[in-house]
Amino acid sequence: MSSPEKTIHTYHCICTQLVLATTTPLPSLKTRTSDSSHILPLPSLSSTSPTSHYASLANTIIDAKPTVIRLEDGFEKRYFHKCGRCELSVAYSLDKSQFDDTKSSSGAREDVAFLIPGGLVDTEDMKRGKDMDAEIAKVGVKAT
Ligand SMILES: [Zn+2]
Repeated sequence: MSSPEKTIHTYHCICTQLVLATTTPLPSLKTRTSDSSHILPLPSLSSTSPTSHYASLANTIIDAKPTVIRLEDGFEKRYFHKCGRCELSVAYSLDKSQFDDTKSSSGAREDVAFLIPGGLVDTEDMKRGKDMDAEIAKVGVKAT
């Protein structure tokens, strides 16, 4: 048998810009308890075997400076990934100082991103939504 081919799932910003390609569909990703964001590992290409998880943010711009978010039990530094087209934040990375193993460093931790809930649209859903709009338009004409 040849190696199994991974399905790539793609997601769009609500403005329809493609912003994410991943082999793990969003509903299968773990979520963060504090804000229900999806935890997306971003493995570097060199460490990726053909059968493991792969994901990549596309057409996004990461903030150069972190935004400090106040939480109930302290604060955290987030670097927002913004859609390159409409500048909506679709995901964020945390500062290295937020992680136990890179506590003494600073800067965006690039091997994991958190996807903001409600910020992304499944390509399939987007297609369906377009069909739906067309249907509604047709019905609208008939209804008059
Ligand atoms: Zn957008």
